[in-house]
Amino acid sequence: MNRKKYGFVFCLLVVIAMISLGTVSIYVNHEEKKEATEQLRVVTSFYPMYVAAMNVTDSCESVTLENLSEPQTGCLHDYQLTPEDMVLLSKADVFIINGGGIENFLSEVASRYPNLTIIEAGEGIEMSGENAHLWMDTEKYQKQVQNIAKGLSEVDETNKKIYQKNADAYCEQIADLTEEYRDTCNGNGQKVVLFHEGLEYAANEWNLNDVYTLNLDEERQVSAGEVADVLSAIQKDGAKMILAERTYGEELAESVKKETNVPVVYLDTCVRGKYEKDAYLKAMRSNLEALKEALQ
Ligand SMILES: [Zn+2]
Repeated sequence: MNRKKYGFVFCLLVVIAMISLGTVSIYVNHEEKKEATEQLRVVTSFYPMYVAAMNVTDSCESVTLENLSEPQTGCLHDYQLTPEDMVLLSKADVFIINGGGIENFLSEVASRYPNLTIIEAGEGIEMSGENAHLWMDTEKYQKQVQNIAKGLSEVDETNKKIYQKNADAYCEQIADLTEEYRDTCNGNGQKVVLFHEGLEYAANEWNLNDVYTLNLDEERQVSAGEVADVLSAIQKDGAKMILAERTYGEELAESVKKETNVPVVYLDTCVRGKYEKDAYLKAMRSNLEALKEALQ
């Protein structure tokens, strides 16, 4: 009898223990779920947008920030969405893009994910024709940063103050760079040839006169006619310098340099690099140093 009684009590204890464990695990699951839904999942399209968003969302623990493309992808003019990208976007709350046609897959994203909030960093910023490489102008980039902060604040009111404070602090640093450019790096209208469309904004900001632009934004064949145009810009129009990016411009720049003796300045178009908060500032500062030296 006693044995049976103890057996019964033991069983009862086991049942109680199981119920309470179950309750705990349900509670834990619930907590986890709650935490997961409170996270704001932000995805950026490519490198310069990621770096800008890193700064704006700094110290916001409830924000998960991810980049769609790889840090070495570069511009997305011919980018094809991968199945992994689709998965990432299907889970995202916000998608931050540059706009102006750089993300050529945008209409596909908008129709596939109608509930995804898309923040266009370049919205309302004046473009030079079809050229959407706005971040290469430090003042336009500041406006992009502010657009990102404004867009995020509309989606996530709780962090509104942090977004704005971060954006203002970051823009202050960029503005210092703008000042420095104006003070120490005036091209005085010197004629240059550009080997990347993105450098048009920079050349304009640095008061350089771009007489010809060869857009080497991706791996491609340069035609004989284009090479002739580059030579003509140097030999006939009097361009005194080539501004190029190493990735796709180095080979041709070096051969033109050999032929014409015109110096080449290699610049960073800020589309590739490490995921670091101050990556843009560092890249633009190194551009400043390279130009200062070339303009001496
Ligand atoms: Zn580009």
